[in-house]
Amino acid sequence: MKAIIIHDGGDIRLEEVPDPEIEQSHDAIVRLTASSICDKDLNILNEKYSAMIPENFLEHEGVGIVEQLGAGVNNLNIGDRVIVPSIMACGSCSHCRADDYAHCDQTNPNERVTDASFFNRQKEHGPWAEKVRVPLANINLLKLPDPTTDNQAMDNADTLPTRYSGDDKATTKAGHTVAVFGCGPVGLLAIARARLLHTERIFAIDTSPERLQKAKELGAEIINCNREDPIKAIKRLTAAPAPIQAVATM
Ligand SMILES: [Zn+2]
Ligand SMILES: [Zn+2]
Repeated sequence: MKAIIIHDGGDIRLEEVPDPEIEQSHDAIVRLTASSICDKDLNILNEKYSAMIPENFLEHEGVGIVEQLGAGVNNLNIGDRVIVPSIMACGSCSHCRADDYAHCDQTNPNERVTDASFFNRQKEHGPWAEKVRVPLANINLLKLPDPTTDNQAMDNADTLPTRYSGDDKATTKAGHTVAVFGCGPVGLLAIARARLLHTERIFAIDTSPERLQKAKELGAEIINCNREDPIKAIKRLTAAPAPIQAVATM
């Protein structure tokens, strides 16, 4: 099969490689029908990111079809359409039992070095390939309901869960005023979710006029921090020392 592989120095190439195989009883082999580009990939390519293992396949977000299953995976079938999530977890350690999969004790032994157990920061290859081996597939693959397109499903691999966990930590609720710093895909989803939660006001802060326009279309009050100090602007616009839920995105 073909895969996009990173070599030392940020050198990436499309190469012919062996197909992945079932190695453990809870593995699955997924044929990718879509994968996305994350800002982490761009950081890797710009060599701002040192946690990537050389000679590995890039990316960590995918949608595909189950082609093979290990004998221990009994909650999926061959042919199921699935999301390949960005983070791998064991499903049984104390962090996983608390739904804190990003800090899984089993798959993320370097928690203090890396912030989560992403594909391709351990030994597993990422889904910029025709196929990917997914360890612990009974926990890590999410079966898609019909009808769901690949594009609709893709945001659930990393972007939306990132936003969702941020909102949980910010304890955003109805009636809150929310400030979203950064209006890329994660920030725009934060604005969309803040509206669903019936927040009182949403401030969107960014430097990009195009991103701020998208934020405005989603119902946010926009602040271009190239033109004004966002903290002073929010204080002036709210005119009260009410607590504000701040959500920082990349
Ligand atoms: Zn990502
Ligand atoms: Zn775990």
